[in-house]
Amino acid sequence: MLLTIQTTHRPATDLGYLLHKNPARVQQFELSAGSAWVFYPEAQDDACTAALLVDLDPIALVRGRIGARDGGLLDQYVNDRPYAANSFLAAAIAQVYGSALNGRSDERAELADTPIPLVARIPALPSRGGPGLIERLFAPLGYEVEASRQPVDPGRPEWGESAYYNLVLRGIVRLQDLLRHLYVLIPVLDDDKHYWVGRDEIDKLLSRGEGWLAAHPARELITDRYLRRQRHLTREALARLSADEAPDPDAAEAAHTAEEALVEEPLRLNEERIASVSAVLTSAGAKRVLDLGCGEGQLIQALLKNPAFEQVTGVDVSVRSLETAARRLRLKEMHETARARVQLLHGSLVYRDARLDGFDAAAVVEVVEHLDPSRLASFERVIFQHARPTTVVLTTPNREYNVRFPSLPAERMRHRDHRFEWSRTEFQAWAVQVARTHGYTTRFIPVGREDPEVGPPTQMAVFTR
Ligand code: SAH
Repeated sequence: MLLTIQTTHRPATDLGYLLHKNPARVQQFELSAGSAWVFYPEAQDDACTAALLVDLDPIALVRGRIGARDGGLLDQYVNDRPYAANSFLAAAIAQVYGSALNGRSDERAELADTPIPLVARIPALPSRGGPGLIERLFAPLGYEVEASRQPVDPGRPEWGESAYYNLVLRGIVRLQDLLRHLYVLIPVLDDDKHYWVGRDEIDKLLSRGEGWLAAHPARELITDRYLRRQRHLTREALARLSADEAPDPDAAEAAHTAEEALVEEPLRLNEERIASVSAVLTSAGAKRVLDLGCGEGQLIQALLKNPAFEQVTGVDVSVRSLETAARRLRLKEMHETARARVQLLHGSLVYRDARLDGFDAAAVVEVVEHLDPSRLASFERVIFQHARPTTVVLTTPNREYNVRFPSLPAERMRHRDHRFEWSRTEFQAWAVQVARTHGYTTRFIPVGREDPEVGPPTQMAVFTR
């Protein structure tokens, strides 16, 4: 496996300081199953190239069972692992170029933080997903991507093309960013890993992905493959990632929530919603209740006052909201038996989650309108197909009512994070279709004083199965 990195930033030999590797020497490093060498095929003032050559020992792979293949005996000894760029190369980058990967350079600190012209070359890169995937992964990061298929044997063109690409990436980037992109994306392209992927892999992904992964258009594919399609890990990583997207989305959300409260305040709508939802849950005879998208825990607080609710579990994607909820509910000070009735879970409602199974009822209060329309179908399956509580109480704003809010400019939604607001017809059509698909019946209850023309400020659907 070979990775070369070239710069033409003058003096180009400063690359040696950035990589902490002297251009004048060939250096060898021991890896878990082989060796790595760093050497410089060229080291001039106007161009300098550092080569990282990784030589895996296929026998060590089999003996140590490190990344051993599942196939037959021959496949264990004869396979592409020593040659094709894969997770071993990523591991070698972290081990051999660790300081550069972390952006540290004692002697050229400023240069380490400066985008410079860099060209990375990997002569045998697998891509499960073809050349299109290579482009899809690297182009959004600002690289000019050149990926051509390698022939099986250059001396025998009649043998055709191999499954490996000759990759050339050109960009003006910080060296640490180039290394971080390669570290994450090489195993993603190979779609394999030589070691067991556990929870600590999420931290690696998020730390190496900091500053670029959250905004990457293929972040879900990257996360899914990087974590070897372990859904529970992927889900957690994406939830943490989406919390990373803006500098502080929780703070923005909190400010917007305050704004929404201000718009709706004259109607005391929040209290009305809590009262209506509690009433429906009580009359349904629910004992174990979920509050999905519980926010700062106001509904949970109200429900806990009623001993008929034996277990109340709040779920939210925002850690900040959950922390506020925990303070509001005084979880720390609670007596053990009272404490056992409440649970706060960090999770996203658009990923299937076994922790949501086994409840009598779920409240989803002012949450759907925060979901991206493209995620709505996943949300429906998570709640109505998998978790399947007997009763689901769901509220959302009635868009028609917005004209009655004097402080709300025309055509504005009540909360800047709302992705949509439904009219009564739209909401009812959605709810009826969801109920029909998943074997529930629906009824609709207005919340807040109903206006003869535009209806109630909040609309509520009660799903029962
Ligand atoms: N139900 C609360 C909060 C409503 S605000 C109340 O009525 O006061 C919407 C809440 O949904 C926010 O706390 C937000 O963090 C949460 N949310 C948004 N998208 C989510 C998702 N995909 N999974 C879980 N919670 C989500």
